[in-house]
Amino acid sequence: MPSPEAGRSVLPRNDERLWTSVLEAVRGRVKREQFETWFKRTALRSVSGGEAVVAVPNAFFREWLGRFYRAEIENALRELTGEALALQVVVDAELFPAIGRADAAPESAPEAGEIPVPGPEEVPAARPALPATGSALNPDYTFENFVVGPCNRFVHAASLGVVENPGRAYNPLFVHGSCGMGKTHLLQAVCHSIQKLKPEADVRFLSCETFINHFISALGNGDLERFRNRYRGADLLVVDDIHLLAAKERTQEEFFHTFNTLYARRCQIVLSSDCPPKEIRQMQERLVSRFSGGLVAPIDPPCFETRSAILQRKARVRGHDLPDDVIRFIAEGVRSSVRDLEGAVLKLLGYASISHRPVTLELAQEAMRDLFPPTVVSVSIDQILSSVARRFGVKVGDLQSKRRSQSIVLPRQVAMYLARRHTRYSLEEIGSLFGGKDHTTVLYALERVEERLRKDPPFRNVLTLLSKEFGGEA
Ligand code: ADP
Ligand code: MG
Repeated sequence: MPSPEAGRSVLPRNDERLWTSVLEAVRGRVKREQFETWFKRTALRSVSGGEAVVAVPNAFFREWLGRFYRAEIENALRELTGEALALQVVVDAELFPAIGRADAAPESAPEAGEIPVPGPEEVPAARPALPATGSALNPDYTFENFVVGPCNRFVHAASLGVVENPGRAYNPLFVHGSCGMGKTHLLQAVCHSIQKLKPEADVRFLSCETFINHFISALGNGDLERFRNRYRGADLLVVDDIHLLAAKERTQEEFFHTFNTLYARRCQIVLSSDCPPKEIRQMQERLVSRFSGGLVAPIDPPCFETRSAILQRKARVRGHDLPDDVIRFIAEGVRSSVRDLEGAVLKLLGYASISHRPVTLELAQEAMRDLFPPTVVSVSIDQILSSVARRFGVKVGDLQSKRRSQSIVLPRQVAMYLARRHTRYSLEEIGSLFGGKDHTTVLYALERVEERLRKDPPFRNVLTLLSKEFGGEA
């Protein structure tokens, strides 16, 4: 007898369990943040005919999962079922977090004098006649001026996703990264693009400090109504450095209600912070859970190639083309933040202009003398090979061979990692020095080592010791 669900794939109970097991396996292999972002709202729809059909909330997720996590998922499926199942990713909008879901309600009743969170139908339609905050935007902080590399590709794609589909793609978009990594730039790029696409949209960009100050003065003036209308009527609310809400109990309370009102209206919210939501200290749990409820996207420090591209871009904006050796020299020496890279370019160009000399490596070394010591000059690959071989008890020749035996894989990955950290070789060059691997293999090796560094303190100690041999840090 045909089932009432005929035509739809009905998942036997054991397939549900299978997906739970796949997720468990994947969880161990990807970064926690990435897992939370990409796998939390997935479901296995069917397994048949050599295919596993997995549903995700939207096209962006489909592309991302299919492109970057296919191998992880297919491997886990193979390990768990013994079958080679091809992953097929489909969109099911219902997997998207529903508005007004149970956990979106405030946990505690509003205190006397507080305005309760209105439902979508209660939100006033009229917009207050206040000046747009868009004018506070830096005209240079656009997508065109943002250099994309492996460190920020994810968050860049996520920001474009918000521009294409505000309020629908994922809400909120929560961008985190340390100081000078480009968070403000990216947040403002989103504002610029949405303003351009929809000039009538009420785009509000503000620093968290502004929100706090406005709130405090509104409290003082008894002007809360106007304050609330100002923020709760936005189409796009972007709050930079939201971690500054830490320990500000009353403002957190207010922001919580602002957030809920906007969220219920499907207004896009974009936030930035210097750390992931869960790590913001003295932040109400319910806010942490709101912040984590959309897409949490890290910006990592830029790698050598990205640093080089940023340096060239920043110099060109100022009408200069930097020679390759100068770029390499600065990109190796300034690793801390993009802001520091920009500072180095300014310093270099200023130095050249004052001394009426062309920009050469020699001039750069002079100009940068106090910015970074000359000790960063390269460690040789031979030093790295012999130190790693000695420490792991393998032969140098093995590290550079194509052999894939287990005993060689880890030391080779470590050597690649150290080569990346302590020399100026590109990924391709490192690949060719280690048995003709391509750059994706090198990237994979770097990721494995970084992951292990995070999880395995004794391993970290070994790398610290090795790095000290070259006068650096792990
Ligand atoms: P954060 O807000 O994370 O502290 P900012 O957005 O203020 O960092 O960035 C610091 C400076 O570095 C800005 O001038 C910004 O334009 C620049 N910057 C950061 N990341 C990039 C990038 N990927 N491409 C170009 N410029 C960048
Ligand atoms: Mg900033």
